[in-house]
Amino acid sequence: MKVALIGNPNSGKTSLFNKLTGLNQKVGNWPGVTINKKEGKILKLDASVVDLPGVYSLSPYTSEEIVSRDYLLNEKPEVVINIIDANAMERSLFLTLQLLELGVRVIVALNMFDILEKKGVRLDEEKLSKELGVSVIKISAKTGFGIDKLLMTLKAEIKQNSKFEIYSKVLENELKKIEGVSGVENRFLSLEALQNEKGWVCENARKVAKKVYGEDASQVVISEKYEFISKVKNKCVLGTKNKDNLTDKIDKIFLNKWLAIPIFFLVMTFIYWFSISFVGGICSGVLGDLFSNISNFVESGLTKFGASNWAVSLVVDGLILGVSSVLMFVPELVSIFLFMCVLESTGYMSRIALMFDRVFQKFGLSGKSLVPFIVGTGCSVPAITSTKTIENETEKEMAVMLSPFVPCSAKLPIIALFVGQFFSKYAGLVTASLYFLAIVIILVSSLVIRKFILKNKATSFVSELPEYKMPCARYVLKDVFDKTLDFLKRVGTIIVFCSILVWFLSSFNWKFQYVSTIQNSILAWIGNLLSWVFYPIVGEQNWAVGVSAIQGLIAKEQVVSSMFVIAGVESVFSSSIFSFFNGASAYAFVLFNLFSAPCISAIGAMKNELKSTRKTIFVILFQIGFAWVISSFAFLIGSLFIGGQL
Ligand code: GDP
Ligand code: MG
Repeated sequence: MKVALIGNPNSGKTSLFNKLTGLNQKVGNWPGVTINKKEGKILKLDASVVDLPGVYSLSPYTSEEIVSRDYLLNEKPEVVINIIDANAMERSLFLTLQLLELGVRVIVALNMFDILEKKGVRLDEEKLSKELGVSVIKISAKTGFGIDKLLMTLKAEIKQNSKFEIYSKVLENELKKIEGVSGVENRFLSLEALQNEKGWVCENARKVAKKVYGEDASQVVISEKYEFISKVKNKCVLGTKNKDNLTDKIDKIFLNKWLAIPIFFLVMTFIYWFSISFVGGICSGVLGDLFSNISNFVESGLTKFGASNWAVSLVVDGLILGVSSVLMFVPELVSIFLFMCVLESTGYMSRIALMFDRVFQKFGLSGKSLVPFIVGTGCSVPAITSTKTIENETEKEMAVMLSPFVPCSAKLPIIALFVGQFFSKYAGLVTASLYFLAIVIILVSSLVIRKFILKNKATSFVSELPEYKMPCARYVLKDVFDKTLDFLKRVGTIIVFCSILVWFLSSFNWKFQYVSTIQNSILAWIGNLLSWVFYPIVGEQNWAVGVSAIQGLIAKEQVVSSMFVIAGVESVFSSSIFSFFNGASAYAFVLFNLFSAPCISAIGAMKNELKSTRKTIFVILFQIGFAWVISSFAFLIGSLFIGGQL
């Protein structure tokens, strides 16, 4: 006997597979694709079992779906065990209905029963069995509960009576008409014919479908299926012990059609205001004093031991200043990490994801790109790597291209420095505006790309909302600690190295003579070559801005560090080199740094995912050009309307 296991991703297929087979399994690949194929013999039963790839439906969009569907249609397993996460019935039953329509013999295994019990949800499986016309068995693939009963059911002759009507009268009538045409063996195929514009089953069916439903037949089919499912669910799931109520009440406000986005905006504004104005305001003075004491102490110590002028300068003006300029922002970063982690572990972030999923789809962006975008607020490298989960190649490339636009944590020091100096009263608003601008840019770019380059439909990101819960302090602290440590590690390596390099380039001329005025240094020479590029952004022919921005390619924090080393003082904007900055040029310069090409590690990750040097170069040029245009524009508008003052 051949048995197939099918279900949504993470429904527990592999756990059940392992319970059924012991360790008696073969792992290989499905023909033609690199998706894992697991096969084994069921212990205590003369049967083989296949663990099919996790799918949400059988519509052939992803390679997982194609593999599963082809297996069911061609290999004709005697029994299909449809494993369902009992906590996500609505999402799971969609696939169940499709299996029933396909006419395969189904046993429904209601998994994660242990969790259901803990939650205090009662589920009437007899009733569900009646509604669906198939055997339904409660199991827990984790504890082993119900597995024996599942085996018994497998052994027994399977009775299946799925003569229930899912669809409305109109739709049923049309389907019956299609089914009267030869070649249409089952409901799945007739639905397919109804929905499929190409009408690969029969031309006749297509005509019928178009006449009744126009192009949107598939939408009707899907929504009627969900209607049926929710009726079934209401009949079978009884007496939830009202844990959900609080969640529902909170969501009435937080997910309200009109309030959701303003609330999100307020929350983010508060976080940035608190972190940059409040925490930053308190800590920058204290840390500034601390670092200048350290610096004085080291300087006098070194001089006492007879170190030469340039050696003192290397340590004090290069190393200490370069590193401390970035360390200054650690309290602000910790504060932002902390808030973000709390938002995430309370369940709020999943709601934001769901909310943007709806918006994103309107702009033709895969809902799945949300994952890289959210990860990208931390660092673009894992964000770009996480695009691997997007099956559709073009959607994946879009996500790779757009996720560096999300301001990562390395860009925060740049934001904090400029916003803290020029917009301290409105720090929260201005910073939030940068993030929202990032979202707008991502949406507009994808709209443009969809319109002119790729035209297929975006796929949705199915996500069940978790309940709100109190965050676990240990988990939050650990997460913040890890992120901060990562940041410090970068400062300890890349920033140390670059600070010394910048100090060197700013202290010597091309003849490698130590120069007393920075204007004669190698760095200034390079900067002068670039200065015209940045003229439209900052409104000055300034050499130091360009060389600092370029260093963002190595690491974004380095932009700040470089400015401090060049200025040679603890307050960048009091040095004559950077004194020309005003509100407009500060905002524009920050924009340029946020949206131009990411750092070298992220570029590497991009190349890995795009698998093409040509495309990578194109993307980098696109990003730099785009950042240049938008920041020049911002400077222009800023200068015209607010005269650079705020
Ligand atoms: P697959 O993606 O369908 O193969 O799902 P897995 O078998 O990998 O399971 C996904 C996760 O759910 C794992 O962390 C499992 O330990 C967990 N899991 C699976 N079945 C159960 C169950 O019955 N109860 C509980 N509490 N967890 C389960
Ligand atoms: Mg699995």
